[in-house]
Amino acid sequence: MASYFDEHGCEPTGETGPELNTLLRWARILINDVRQYAEREGLELPPDIRKAPPASKECVANLKETNVLKDRSEKCPICLLPYRRGDVTKTLPCTHEFHQTCILPWLGKTNSCPLCRHELPTDDEDYEEYKKHKARAKQRQFETESLHNSMYT
Ligand SMILES: [Zn+2]
Ligand SMILES: [Zn+2]
Repeated sequence: MASYFDEHGCEPTGETGPELNTLLRWARILINDVRQYAEREGLELPPDIRKAPPASKECVANLKETNVLKDRSEKCPICLLPYRRGDVTKTLPCTHEFHQTCILPWLGKTNSCPLCRHELPTDDEDYEEYKKHKARAKQRQFETESLHNSMYT
């Protein structure tokens, strides 16, 4: 929830007691309520409140596919079962591997790796715009800091 405070320009007061935890819990409940309400009413939410969109179909179709030829000892991080002969796995760009049957439903809902949150491209133009905007803001901050450093050091 740190990002909630960042994005709203206010800082947690440094309280770490039960009050802050209660507040965070309420914030989470409220955001979920807002999402559900918007879904029901068909309202557009800003992308930072909206859930991340599904991974792009093209990207999912191009994931590396592996046919498991003999039983392996590694386990699929989603279902926690080892890969067996005859299973089909998909490998994400972050090199994390999952059963095809486990990762495809996941990527149909959200665009990030369940293990490391590495984001895949999406088909959602608004969301892609928002990501670009965030990357640009970061770059600007970096440039301002570099300028500042070169002036004062
Ligand atoms: Zn699995
Ligand atoms: Zn990953």
